Amino acid sequence: MFFYDKLITDWMKFRKTVQTFTGDPISLADNTLFGNCHVTINNKPLFFESFTKSNVIKVDDIWDFKRNACIPDNEIFQKIKFKRNWICEWSSLKACVSKYINDKTNETVHKQKFKLKSNKLFDLKGKLIQHTKLKMRDIVEVYNVKTTKLNGENKWENIFEKQFHWNKIWQSLGKSKASLKAKQLHWKSLHHAIFTEHKLSLIGYSNGMCVLCTKQRETLQHLFWECSYAQAIWESILPILDKVAINTLEYEIENPKICCLLGLYFKPSICKIINTIILEAKWFIWKSRNIYKYEKRYMNKKHIIACIKTSVKDQLKSHCDQFLLDLF
Ligand SMILES: [Zn+2]
Repeated sequence: MFFYDKLITDWMKFRKTVQTFTGDPISLADNTLFGNCHVTINNKPLFFESFTKSNVIKVDDIWDFKRNACIPDNEIFQKIKFKRNWICEWSSLKACVSKYINDKTNETVHKQKFKLKSNKLFDLKGKLIQHTKLKMRDIVEVYNVKTTKLNGENKWENIFEKQFHWNKIWQSLGKSKASLKAKQLHWKSLHHAIFTEHKLSLIGYSNGMCVLCTKQRETLQHLFWECSYAQAIWESILPILDKVAINTLEYEIENPKICCLLGLYFKPSICKIINTIILEAKWFIWKSRNIYKYEKRYMNKKHIIACIKTSVKDQLKSHCDQFLLDLF
């Protein structure tokens, strides 16, 4: 409890030092007009010497908070001592500052759901929020801290203890030519949204063990990679992936586990053939697992490989040359 209070107070103090804007437009009055990275034209901050020399420096010097508009032109005309080029500069300044104030105001108006008083957080009705009821989501909302990664992305990074270029991973998924169902499965697995036995065990619907080998927990990485059944499939598929990578991309697949679980993503547009193969293979691993789980029918390895090859050929028909098709 004490730790929580301390954390919140310290964080508030820190926020005050880095951000002067609290949601009230008047708090912008003290902000400088020039050299301010938010008051920009073509992404560059402004600097007009004639204005600074005439002591027009802060937002307050040109903005009328009552009217919520810039002060009238004749008023600024009186203030500026050096009038060369002033009309052009004044027009730019007016446009940039109006945009700045409006952007800032819109940004924060909707955010304030909580108030901090004497080390306690209260909701807008003045009710104390118990620290046990405070959720991460509330803190994120109060402080407008954006979490930059999706949950699924974080989970994969924890599994591999490595950071990934997620933009490229998502692009690779989009650019692959795999069938829609294979893409959807890969999309779900990137989001950790597949009901593996392990996931089902967390809500009490399974013992969590792998359907096929029954020896280990069926997590996503077990299902699609570690399981001996998945390994048997990859044993036949990986040599093909290697050949395609070397022949078409002059690239050697360094980490086949990451490649099979997340897709090959270093250059999304040219990895599409490899990703098509990977996604189709995963789809058939998933399909054979489900056939076994629900129908107790066992698809043998040869049959699965044949299905993957046919499916890849169908998907790639118009996208690759004879050399690639011959590999299958
Ligand atoms: Zn298994």
